Amino acid sequence: MAGVIRRLDEAVVNRIAAGEVIQRPANAIKEMIENCLDAKSTSIQVVVKEGGLKLIQVQDNGCGIRKEDLDIVCERFTTSKLQKFEDLASIATYGFRGEALASISHVAHVTVTTKTADAKCAYRATYSDGKIKAPPKPCAGNQGTQITVEDLFYNVNTRRKALKNPNEEYAKILEVVSRYAIHNSGISFSVKKQGDTVSDVRTLSNASTVDNIRSIFGNAVSRELIEVGCEDASLAFKMKGYITNANYSVKKCIFLLFINHRLVESAALRKAIETVYAAYLPKSTHPFLYLSLEIAPQNVDVNVHPTKHEVHFLHEDSILERVQQHVESKLLGSNSSRMYFTQTLLPGADCSSSEVVKSAANSSVVTKGTSDKVYAHQMVRTDSREQKLDAFLQPVNNPLSTGPSEATTEVNAGPPEGSVRPQDAEMEDVSDLVEMADVQDTVMPGRLSESGRLSPETVPPRKRPREDVDVEMEKDDTRKDMTAACTPRRRIINLTSVLTLQEEISNQAHANLQEMLHDHSFVGCVSPQWALAQYQTKLYLLNTTKLSQELFYQILIYDFANFGVLRLSEPAPLYELSMLALEDPESGWTEDDGPKEGLAEYIVEFLKKKTEMLKDYFSLEIDEVNWDEEKECFESLSKELAMFYSIRKQYIIDEANLTNSQNEDSDSGSTTWKWTVEHVLYKAFRTHLLPPKRFTEDGNILQLANLPDLYKVFERC
Ligand code: ADP
Ligand code: MG
Repeated sequence: MAGVIRRLDEAVVNRIAAGEVIQRPANAIKEMIENCLDAKSTSIQVVVKEGGLKLIQVQDNGCGIRKEDLDIVCERFTTSKLQKFEDLASIATYGFRGEALASISHVAHVTVTTKTADAKCAYRATYSDGKIKAPPKPCAGNQGTQITVEDLFYNVNTRRKALKNPNEEYAKILEVVSRYAIHNSGISFSVKKQGDTVSDVRTLSNASTVDNIRSIFGNAVSRELIEVGCEDASLAFKMKGYITNANYSVKKCIFLLFINHRLVESAALRKAIETVYAAYLPKSTHPFLYLSLEIAPQNVDVNVHPTKHEVHFLHEDSILERVQQHVESKLLGSNSSRMYFTQTLLPGADCSSSEVVKSAANSSVVTKGTSDKVYAHQMVRTDSREQKLDAFLQPVNNPLSTGPSEATTEVNAGPPEGSVRPQDAEMEDVSDLVEMADVQDTVMPGRLSESGRLSPETVPPRKRPREDVDVEMEKDDTRKDMTAACTPRRRIINLTSVLTLQEEISNQAHANLQEMLHDHSFVGCVSPQWALAQYQTKLYLLNTTKLSQELFYQILIYDFANFGVLRLSEPAPLYELSMLALEDPESGWTEDDGPKEGLAEYIVEFLKKKTEMLKDYFSLEIDEVNWDEEKECFESLSKELAMFYSIRKQYIIDEANLTNSQNEDSDSGSTTWKWTVEHVLYKAFRTHLLPPKRFTEDGNILQLANLPDLYKVFERC
């Protein structure tokens, strides 16, 4: 039986048409953002509720809508952007159909609040099925437009039922807004859920495109970006954007494509570019791409589909080929000068690695994962316990190891009980630095566990009874041989200030870094300041200056009041030294400080007053110390001393001069410091340093390369 053909009710027709344009909240938001951009806004703020199904509010600071236009703004085919058909060919704005607001008003309740620059006040109007419900009401408001869309699809049952998951809708909204934010650097965007104080996407008007990519997709993407750009006059197109290099790959391709500033999809273009990347990325992984194509408007067929997603253009194949060529050349270029970007945040510093690691040099297997299979790229081929022969061949003229000939007493360098560092037993002639460091083992109980491993986590918090006596002698005589001989017995420190400083050090300790330092294999010195070390499958760049400074600071704090004495054969000329110090521009002396002579005398007097304390605890004098507060005094004095001892450029130069004046063989001068760095300092770092957390963030320890990542690159060669 044939059905009866009837004319559909106009409202139903409009609703069906609207459903074509607006399929989900993200479509509505895209249209609204495009309107904001057409209105030359510099700030666009989106607020949504229930994934946009309950409420969408888009606020801009653009040109606003004239009061007299408010009546028809939501009617179909009303637009301020297109007047005759011919204009379509050179359309420069997003909108031109006057269809978006009309469509939205057919499937939701729309409220527009707007103010133009020359209007005295703002006006508000509400719309339903494309019609204004009442004359616009004057109200307060800033220049720009706020459009509120409530109860989307309230009258389209099927659509409402299909969009049951607000989280999914919200994710789509974030996707759309963040892509427009990246494409429109210079304009600030934000998206948040109603009631939230923090935005989920937020870009600033002064941020660059790369800044925006970083804030939305993260550093892992932004640091591997290559800028692309090409144009071809004969094909009447331009392209620019950012694509990731071969260092970056992700399971699903991220492709932000704008054609003539409109977010679109192009399966053809995606496929063309992915073909190029297939030669550079590991199998079934993909790049991040942000491309902006500008094609002569007359060559683009924008009138394909109401959602305007699918864009076709003239010379499509030729343009795709040009883009392909360009991307390929950029990837090749970045490949031949591959760079390993360092980061100030140490990756994996917070979570211990779950990689399976096998030491090839040793049969013992460190298995952190569950699988037994060890792939070549996970294999560790070094063993931190291996000793180098030159560790025993100390270079001559090492100023640090001239021995305590001038010292009144010798400092015991024996290994602490419980230590399993084999080299300690074998190395007798270690320098003062390590002797100094070894002493502290006796005051750092628990820093070495049974196995000789450092394990601050297993150490119970250091809580000593605060007794009346600040400093007392240790009663346990069995440890006598462990102590510095200058102090017949090890002094136990009960000074609250010192104990607090010790506690601060151990609270700041970073367990994974400590493990890294303990088990590292020294690779070599880059410069006096920097050295390379390997740990498992990773290569690290370490700031020797900063690490040694921290080491000596910790030694000073943990070995407080237990230092050996180095007696100078002639007393130091304090006055002359003070004068010398004041001559140094670093002292910061200015004429306002008064004559240097007077100051020098004052310094001598001052130091004499502090003799007791200095002699008792440190046996030294130093400036820039806060002498008045006990804890601050000890802390700053130790920091100054640590600075003095740390490996710095100046130290190397001094050493070279010293060596050269004694010995014409300048080569030994340059190798001595390297030996000291490798065999004294880095050896001490293994067991004597509690690396503070900040080293994972401040760039003093950087991860340069990770073997599995390198394999990804070489697999493709
Ligand atoms: P189109 O963008 O295709 O012109 P729309 O339905 O999206 O159609 O918008 C209709 C008209 O409403 C626009 O032409 C514009 O004049 C006005 N309009 C919409 N949103 C804004 C806005 N945020 N700021 C200024 N004018 C706007
Ligand atoms: Mg529009």
